[in-house]
Amino acid sequence: MQRRDVLKKATLGAAATTTLAAPAIVRAQPTINWRLASSFPKSLDTLFGGGQRFSDSLDAMSGGKFKVRAFAAGEIVPGLQVADAVMNNTVEVGHTASYYYIGKDPTWAFGTAIPFGLNFRQFNAWWLEGGGRDLMQKEFYDKQGIHAIIVGNTGVQMGGWFNKEIKSPEDLKGLKFRIGGFAGQALAKLGVTAQQIAGGEIYQALERGTIDAAEWVGPYDDEKLGFQKVSKFYYYPGWWEPGPATHIFIGKKAWDSLPKEYQAMATIAAQEANAHMMSRYDANNAAALKRLIAGGTKVLPFPKSVMDACYKACMELYAETSAKNPTFKKILEHMTAFQTASTNWTRLNEGAYDSYMGTVRR
Ligand code: CA
Repeated sequence: MQRRDVLKKATLGAAATTTLAAPAIVRAQPTINWRLASSFPKSLDTLFGGGQRFSDSLDAMSGGKFKVRAFAAGEIVPGLQVADAVMNNTVEVGHTASYYYIGKDPTWAFGTAIPFGLNFRQFNAWWLEGGGRDLMQKEFYDKQGIHAIIVGNTGVQMGGWFNKEIKSPEDLKGLKFRIGGFAGQALAKLGVTAQQIAGGEIYQALERGTIDAAEWVGPYDDEKLGFQKVSKFYYYPGWWEPGPATHIFIGKKAWDSLPKEYQAMATIAAQEANAHMMSRYDANNAAALKRLIAGGTKVLPFPKSVMDACYKACMELYAETSAKNPTFKKILEHMTAFQTASTNWTRLNEGAYDSYMGTVRR
């Protein structure tokens, strides 16, 4: 009996030793010191915070071995040159929005958002489960020498700040509107003069009247920039950014050099930051919207006639772009098929539920 107990203890002891030995594998991993260039300033705590959270999680998960130091826009490279900095190996990691680079190729847009594209939930479903990530990685990012991981989302953005009411598509004619990317090109078809102005300069342009309207993100970020002081009408929804994703771009060479464990940590850290950023926005936007309304901002929906005209302009733009770019066409068709099927479901669950709850809780 006693001998058996001793044996049993010895066996348990061996098992315990094996368990205790496991962290030694982690300790044997290399120390990595990488730099992350962000497209965002530190003052935008939600957006910049996504890259910082990714970095903090890696540090914690690796016991301080896998270090990725986050630098704000302009510290290493300007905010809109982050993808280039990853592609030419200036930094190992970039934290940016893929659609900033549509000037190089419109296909970059699908990594973030296209006008009348996917909302946050649909984007995650397409990217993670619907084949979107694999398609974009294989057909596009591999060719740029980038490994792409989504790391955050703003959810549907607001339609922006206007100095007059927009009652019909006619009211868009001649409007000087700070809006970029595809939406700017589509709105140009409706007579809008689209302007590209950096975030920090929008307030002054609105105040001086050099522009008539500007879009940024949503209540929380917009309130910080003070647009409510110089514009009265705040429209929704921002159909051009229904669920824009931000990315961690890692140079392919750097990514391939990582131990499998570190690749797993990076993937999980980014996925956690992706969910967390949406939570921060949902909590903070609701409070900011309430303050804006209390302060006198008039919050209005774009009329259906305006939405329809914008939708039509975007579909024309996609047909023109698809005719010139087969990769764009292939990914657009994949994403659109997913969106149609998904919308037939989401309009019945969150869509219908939110519509009803909006009538009894307001
Ligand atoms: Ca925006």
